[in-house]
Amino acid sequence: EPALTTPIRTPEDADAALRPKSLAEFVGQAAARENLRIFVEAAKSRGDALDHVLFFGPPGLGKTTLAQIVAKELGVGFRSTSGPVIAKAGDLAALLTNLEDGDVLFIDEIHRLSPAVEEILYPAMEDRALDIMIGEGPSARSVRIDLPKFTLVGATTRQGLLTTPLRDRFGIPVRLNFYTHAELEQVITRAARLLALPIASDGALEIAKRSRGTPRIAGRLLRRVRDFATVAGHAVVDAKAADAALNRLEVDALGLDAMDRRYLTMIADIYRGGPVGVETLAAGLSEPRDTIEDVVEPYLLQIGLIARTARGRMLNASAWKHLGLNPPAGSQD
Ligand code: ADP
Repeated sequence: EPALTTPIRTPEDADAALRPKSLAEFVGQAAARENLRIFVEAAKSRGDALDHVLFFGPPGLGKTTLAQIVAKELGVGFRSTSGPVIAKAGDLAALLTNLEDGDVLFIDEIHRLSPAVEEILYPAMEDRALDIMIGEGPSARSVRIDLPKFTLVGATTRQGLLTTPLRDRFGIPVRLNFYTHAELEQVITRAARLLALPIASDGALEIAKRSRGTPRIAGRLLRRVRDFATVAGHAVVDAKAADAALNRLEVDALGLDAMDRRYLTMIADIYRGGPVGVETLAAGLSEPRDTIEDVVEPYLLQIGLIARTARGRMLNASAWKHLGLNPPAGSQD
């Protein structure tokens, strides 16, 4: 059926269309990939459910993708939900009792579960059982229901956001790191092939360098670059075409966007390079603190533009240079 195999998809599931479907297709995160391969194989050969897995790292690095791949490699069912969606303990109980043996239950943003919901997750993860209260007042009693042997796969931006008892119940914690330019170049080349977009390797590398180490951003930039290339009538996306498009999108040479530059400029202009607390920055930028800490700062720290000190955030000399400003005397790098 041509309609099923055509790469054309609606914009909403553009990300999903580019998702790798197996560990072999998944680019980068070599250590995580190899470990998962071994744990999956061991669980399969024992005929056992995989131990619970926690993926943590900045948004867009492949946590959801890996969760789906793990289920596929195990040959089991995949159910997906997210922390904020599970309002009541009963919602989670309904999900858990509907699982089949071996199934993967994926909970995105697992750090946002309410304490009451988290409470029923502990015995579910540890003993694969559900303790529910029947009745009210003095006649209330607790009943234990056995659950299928399922695997919980949780995702969160920072491991430290989880409560200790929840964190301790994951046998397989997996940290995802920013991707290298070479890895992102592979991600982009693969995505371009799926989008039937002719791209030169210098074009893929140019987009890779400006994707903040993040496959989701790489995919997004690739689609926008494609739009510019289509309108400009370029047959192949090369470095020059990519550069022109990315400049128009206001993605700079380091891949920083308007938000990153507002953040850096605020520390430079108003706080003379810092140190300044994250709450103060969040208020000044009118952004939630979580966005600053989970989305903006990790990459700026990774490439060494800022430093986190006990007294707050500080600009390194390279950040001043990037903004085209002179660092004050004594600035660190
Ligand atoms: P997260 O759950 O960490 O926010 P996702 O798993 O949703 O990230 O990944 C975002 C998108 O990035 C995916 O839809 C996929 O298109 C792409 N992607 C992520 N990791 C990879 C990878 N290793 N190789 C290729 N594409 C990837």
